[in-house]
Amino acid sequence: MIIKYTNFSDGLHEFKLSEPAKKLGLEESFFGDVEVDCKMDKSPHQIVLNCTVTAHTKYDCDRCARETIKEVKNDFLLSFIFTKEKQESDDFNFKMLSPEQDKIDLTTDVFEYAELALPMKKLCEDECKGLCPKCGTNLNENSCNCDLTIENDIWAPLKSLKDKFNN
Ligand SMILES: [Zn+2]
Ligand SMILES: [Zn+2]
Repeated sequence: MIIKYTNFSDGLHEFKLSEPAKKLGLEESFFGDVEVDCKMDKSPHQIVLNCTVTAHTKYDCDRCARETIKEVKNDFLLSFIFTKEKQESDDFNFKMLSPEQDKIDLTTDVFEYAELALPMKKLCEDECKGLCPKCGTNLNENSCNCDLTIENDIWAPLKSLKDKFNN
């Protein structure tokens, strides 16, 4: 994902970039094209890029294993300062552009922000009820008659202690 910024005049520009997730190095959960909507503010001294990454993900729900397709989005802001000296910046969102560079390569940034947009817990929906630990029934679709009190037994010692104090 490359922006040839020398093709742009000073001022505000809006454009869209798109590249297949695979080509960006995004694998596993990603498919299709990753789209990046950019607002570029170019001035004689710097370029400020305000971008939104939209990516398509497909994964199996962590709770019920249902195949889930979700669109994820992430915003990022990058500043590029024109500089004659070769300088490195440790700030991820603040970069230097030397005169011999006429392009900005967004590949790494888009990759990182798309990865960050993936939820830690991959669920089909926030309210997913998951599977019954005993019979495996998908509790989003059906209910079962399993007695799950064993699961609650971790509280039993506490309960008996409480009873003791109350007597
Ligand atoms: Zn689920
Ligand atoms: Zn069950």
